[in-house]
Amino acid sequence: MRILNDMRSLVSGGAGFLGSHLCERLLQLGHEVLCVDNLFTGDLRNIEHLRENEQFKFILHDVTEPIDFEVDYIFNLACPASPIHYQSNPVQTLKTNVLGVMNMLELAKVNGSQFLQASTSEIYGDPEINPQPETYWGNTNPIGVRSCYDEGKRVAETFTYDYFRQYNLNVRVARIFNTYGPRMATNDGRVVSNFIVQALNQEPLTIYGDGTQIRSFCYVDDLIDGMLKLQFNYQGNEPINIGNPAPLNMFDLATEVIRLTGSSSDITYRPLPKDDPRLREPNIERATMLLGWEPTIDLESGLERTIQFFRILLNK
Ligand code: NAD
Ligand code: UDP
Repeated sequence: MRILNDMRSLVSGGAGFLGSHLCERLLQLGHEVLCVDNLFTGDLRNIEHLRENEQFKFILHDVTEPIDFEVDYIFNLACPASPIHYQSNPVQTLKTNVLGVMNMLELAKVNGSQFLQASTSEIYGDPEINPQPETYWGNTNPIGVRSCYDEGKRVAETFTYDYFRQYNLNVRVARIFNTYGPRMATNDGRVVSNFIVQALNQEPLTIYGDGTQIRSFCYVDDLIDGMLKLQFNYQGNEPINIGNPAPLNMFDLATEVIRLTGSSSDITYRPLPKDDPRLREPNIERATMLLGWEPTIDLESGLERTIQFFRILLNK
């Protein structure tokens, strides 16, 4: 049954970290939201507060299988994003990126829906230029442990643009850089949640390698603003970087998390995972020019909000 006129959105991966924030914001905008997720890394607790809303529907489904719904907008976020999770079942990750995107694109084709692919800075691999503009083709290893994710996401972009060229599908591609915030899972394995959980538990913060590798961290609310602008306020189809151009090395991140939590934790060093990129920093000129978007939340306030979330969750 259609509840609303032309505002029915499907969010695949909607029970995950970013997906749950996106579902929430779409509901606030008056959309009817179909949240599709197989709960591989997602959690029903992320969407518990949305389930009483009659405009919201959760569908337990694996996107590697076809699905049939009448929708106006598709946001394809289904895919584990943390290296430990996407590497725990690389074949499934690759299938999600290849078959999953194909099934979502087919759905968009049948319905004439507008399609947004959640791509990633990983498609730039271990970049040779810094910061990375969208025109950079990347430096990826096709046979490495990260390939199921980064090559998978590259194929997903290829599929997206082939549907655009061959079937005239209305597509958008968000190249998302490292994003953090409330509702990251405690066992997510990515650096911000690891450091905060370790600091709150008064355990040593685990730096992989020597801590000089660089990332640029975007707070989730900014990221969702960017995605919504890309889907609804942009008429083109260029891929667009969404991220916070504020580079930081992992040692400085660890120090900042210890300071903001008031923890007595120290730092311990672990081996650097294979093919770990040396740096990531978005060039966001395109987002600024075409979407009128730029991040507004700095690292300190974003970390404070995230720490507060984990304090409540862990009762610390
Ligand atoms: P997440 O792991 O919290 O969420 C991914 C969601 O997809 C989970 O709910 C999971 O259960 C679901 N999922 C995985 N495989 C599925 C399948 N086959 N069928 C149905 N559902 C499936 O990760 P996230 O950080 O919320 O990332 C969401 C999307 O954004 C991913 O596509 C990721 O690649 C992309 N992205 C995220 C970041 C980031 O820093 N958070 C950066 C770049 C790109
Ligand atoms: N990292 C770390 N300690 C951790 C988890 C990650 O030092 O407990 C490092 C990781 O090796 C990488 C950076 O932090 O260099 C960001 O890792 P994350 O998994 O968050 O994202 P990605 O590697 O996908 O950018």
